[in-house]
Amino acid sequence: MIATKTKIWLSSPHMGGSEISYVNEAFRTNWIAPLGPNVEGFEKDLQSYLGGFREVAALSSGTAALHLALILCGVGPGDVVLCQSFTFAASANPITYLGAEPVFIDSEDNTWNLCPDLLESCILDLAKTGKKPKALIAVHLYGMPYNVERVNDISRKYDIPVIEDSAEALGSIYKGINCGTVGNLSVLSFNGNKIITTSGGGALITPNETLKNKAVFLATQARDNAPHYEHSEIGFNYRMSNVTAGIGRGQMEVLKARVAARRSNYAFYRAELGDLEEVSFLDEPEGYYSNRWLTCILLRNAELRERIRMALLADNIESRPLWKPMHLQPVYKSNKAYLNGVSEALFSRGLCLPSGSDLTEIELTRICGVIKNEIRL
Ligand SMILES: *Cc1c(COP(=O)(O)O)cnc(C)c1O
Repeated sequence: MIATKTKIWLSSPHMGGSEISYVNEAFRTNWIAPLGPNVEGFEKDLQSYLGGFREVAALSSGTAALHLALILCGVGPGDVVLCQSFTFAASANPITYLGAEPVFIDSEDNTWNLCPDLLESCILDLAKTGKKPKALIAVHLYGMPYNVERVNDISRKYDIPVIEDSAEALGSIYKGINCGTVGNLSVLSFNGNKIITTSGGGALITPNETLKNKAVFLATQARDNAPHYEHSEIGFNYRMSNVTAGIGRGQMEVLKARVAARRSNYAFYRAELGDLEEVSFLDEPEGYYSNRWLTCILLRNAELRERIRMALLADNIESRPLWKPMHLQPVYKSNKAYLNGVSEALFSRGLCLPSGSDLTEIELTRICGVIKNEIRL
């Protein structure tokens, strides 16, 4: 039997050390509930990290946060919501929870995110048929900020609120402003593979306390103010647990180090593979700062991408094609989409490389070795 090499994962949870003391404190004080001091503490930590001018509601997932954001925008049955096509399905699915219709928009080359030109032609087209989108979901994919300035200009011009999907972009910065604070409402995720994790969790970021309170109200079964259980709205069970929020508090202590480590992974790959003709990277445009949640490379063609992915797999290294655009997903195949070919090319030629903040230089060297070897073949 051949001894298998140690597994290298795409993006592993990476504890800092103090998470367990916050969790122990929750047990010691019996705050084993979807509220408590860790939930409040985690919200405060996030709020101050993001600059202090937004309110944070800690929730059970990023998907739940997107669902509530759409509700706060008044989205309901029959409404149109615009959504970046090149993303994870969780960006789009909550639109359909509400009986609304997602219309997908392709990406631009230099950020891989929402193409502002296509966005505007889509809005003008829909206007001709008398339809005005209720909201727009823009995504900072893989941590790279979208073109915030142009997207916000279009949002203001046509009066369509932006829901900023910052699930992959905590720690990223656009022209001095933190991702997670540039949309009308913003969403974070703390799923197990994200830059920091609570094992599962998310947050909705709002511009004021009234909206935060409304989100928390909806997330805790929409209970009216009465001694018995009185309900005049439909609610959800979406609040974060005080136990997992304890993990979040510990993770906040190391967030800056996690961003530095992911960026350093990117720099390593870039230095090792950047000179190869067959490989290209996504640069940061002027004023953009990515947390480099995942390092992605584009290969010369789809065939080489698959060969490299299989060679990595044979070496017990996990890698993954880039997100399959929503307009290509079977479940969304009959939805309207405004396309330019960018996301389809990225999907066919792109590969996410292992990007965990706990990767060692020996592991990074091993990964690059497999890739270089495959390209030379
Ligand atoms: C992870 C992710 C989500 C969903 O977050 P969960 O916490 O897993 O529900 C939404 N959008 C994007 C782009 C994501 O990567």
